[in-house]
Amino acid sequence: MSAADAPGRAGLDTKLDGLLGGRTSGALKRAFGHVTAGDLLGHYPRRYARRGELTALSELPLDENVTIVAEVLEVRERSMRQRRGSILEATISDGTGVLTLTFFNQKWRAAELVPGARGVFAGKVTSYRGARQLAHPDYELFERSGDDPDAKRWAETPIPIYPATSTIASWQVAKAVGLVLDALGDVDDPIPESVRTARGLVGFREALEGVHRPEQERDWSRARTALRFQEAFVLQAALLGRRAERKARRTVRREAAPDGLLARFDDVLPFELTGDQRAVGAEVAKDLASGMPMNRLVQGEVGSGKTLVALRAMLAVAESGGQTALLAPTEVLAAQHLRSISRVLGPDLSAELMPTLVTGQLPAAERKRALLRAASGQARIVVGTHALLGDTVTFADLGLVVVDEQHRFGVDQREALRVKGAEPPHVLVLTATPIPRTVAMTVFGDLDVSTIRELPGGRPGIESFVVPLAERPGWFGRVWARVAEEVAKGHRAFVVCPAIEAKQVEDADAVDLGPADGESEASGAPPVPLASVLDVIARLAEAPEMRGLAIAPLHGRMSSDEKEQAMRAFAAGELDVLVATTVIEVGVDVPDASTMVVLDAERFGVSQLHQLRGRVGRGSVPGLCLLVTNAPEGTVARERVDAVAATTDGFELARVDLDLRQEGDVLGSNQSGGRSSLRLLRVARDGDLIVAARELAQGLLDDDPVLASHPALVAAVRRRLDETESQFLNKA
Ligand code: ADP
Ligand code: MG
Repeated sequence: MSAADAPGRAGLDTKLDGLLGGRTSGALKRAFGHVTAGDLLGHYPRRYARRGELTALSELPLDENVTIVAEVLEVRERSMRQRRGSILEATISDGTGVLTLTFFNQKWRAAELVPGARGVFAGKVTSYRGARQLAHPDYELFERSGDDPDAKRWAETPIPIYPATSTIASWQVAKAVGLVLDALGDVDDPIPESVRTARGLVGFREALEGVHRPEQERDWSRARTALRFQEAFVLQAALLGRRAERKARRTVRREAAPDGLLARFDDVLPFELTGDQRAVGAEVAKDLASGMPMNRLVQGEVGSGKTLVALRAMLAVAESGGQTALLAPTEVLAAQHLRSISRVLGPDLSAELMPTLVTGQLPAAERKRALLRAASGQARIVVGTHALLGDTVTFADLGLVVVDEQHRFGVDQREALRVKGAEPPHVLVLTATPIPRTVAMTVFGDLDVSTIRELPGGRPGIESFVVPLAERPGWFGRVWARVAEEVAKGHRAFVVCPAIEAKQVEDADAVDLGPADGESEASGAPPVPLASVLDVIARLAEAPEMRGLAIAPLHGRMSSDEKEQAMRAFAAGELDVLVATTVIEVGVDVPDASTMVVLDAERFGVSQLHQLRGRVGRGSVPGLCLLVTNAPEGTVARERVDAVAATTDGFELARVDLDLRQEGDVLGSNQSGGRSSLRLLRVARDGDLIVAARELAQGLLDDDPVLASHPALVAAVRRRLDETESQFLNKA
């Protein structure tokens, strides 16, 4: 026994290897990344089972690791046909369905897996010749105490079911947690006493006990309430603290002069700014002139004029010789931004501001010239991809960083640009993915948020339809006929596929293509090969409906020259149909494209579909969006697609998306979660809680900006930021 084993000696920062021994602590580290007692104790059960209940086996998703409560039905032993040795086959049941467990050369298990025995079973659900199996099964049987006078209590004691992996089962986590709890001394509560009392929360130590070793349901439910609040509170304290820190910094004021560049630009603008553009423009101008570095997120639908708002900020900054770096997620978009900025500025302002492109694929001589213009300060606007982040790119006076399409860039990347300014530059983040308020508070809690809701008038609108192939396979042909009709009217169409080639997923977008986070697609149809750009091109070449149309591909494996050329030909009307991956998702602007066909639409997220749809109906031509899906009615995948067809309101969609992503199912999904950034908190469900926590944290910070009298909260914030920095914000 080491000293740390003694009760009451360990704290949250105590290393697990001193508490559990090398093997267990090593396994926990490999499986989940847990290093300290705090890490492990933050590994909360994902649900609670009871000995007296059985898990519904028919709802278990295939190919996922699950942990379930079941009863042994029968055990059979047989010899193997090809080799020496024996197979022990056990069937377990929930009273209706069965699962088979197979063990090789483990005859002795027959003695414990007796019919009627109950326990927790873990493994991966697979299907073998039509029968469902638990592969690599592992189990822990409940002690048999059916005759116990306290049988009812025995049956109802909650059994924590932890996120587990194939190497560490739920009950092994439970044992390790128990040992650590035994060794744990008092822990300081990050929630101040006054807040805890006001909200009627149990203390931290009691909550840890209740969440991991509940004796009755009430224990874990009160514990989770307290820990959930703590999570929201610590996160908000962290974000607000960081925001306050940033606001304490000073930087160069950037102000537009009365007859300066911005005024000249506004004078020749061929349209009126919308009310929202004006309001957001004013917020940005105020930030720029404040002497504190701006850190603002502007959200608004595709086509709402975010880029215009950003450009006006660039002009204000250029007034004093300041430069702007505009960071775009792809080469196509960077090139397009440069073109449209030059066009909107007009020849005179363009000559003065010298918008310049810096991407990884520029020829060496051109690149050198571009870098020189950035370094000398001649180029007031430098547009580029992540190539802008490289060490060779320097600025004479970087005053503003504009990041287009936030979700592709992490905090690190914003930071890499930020440090290129002598003084901290202002930062403006643009996103077309509408973010509900509570998400903005949680994910971007250190940013100020502006919203453009109004679209510039005169947009012709867009109609969306679901093409449900599961129920209406015959409609597939209609899709192409409809595309041909549009082309016959002189319009153009996009066809978007989730893959480039059969079975090959577009690399850059791979993250977006799986089922949405935490969601299990087990109920979906058997795997149909994904629609792919190359297949579809080949098929359309044969399709009678499409005869005579000019069709070309656009995807991430083409060189940037090829992509650029395809986009240009499409924009110029030399191509009728562009078959593409999501490289066209953001920002690409072809005013007379009327039709967007998305194949395997259920493979895309709600916001992604919404963005794709935003590509059409942008000019004077009404848009048509056909969402083609194999997902049967009643699946979550299909609900997502239906939701997109039902409304064009991005904020409504963002809300629906959140709802659909809620952890509805207690089984299957993300059972092997490991350290995730949000544990008990769910932004969709816990909006009110997040708002309350933010207000309370703000109150605390107002009275005590460095939290001098709240060391436990400071420690929790530090732990939180360590983790957040490395995982959460980067994924946002
Ligand atoms: P976003 O970046 O939000 O997608 P943009 O700034 O690119 O939107 O604007 C989309 C298109 O609408 C551009 O062609 C732009 O010139 C035009 N536009 C922007 N604001 C207005 C307005 N107030 N009135 C008319 N057209 C506008
Ligand atoms: Mg834009």
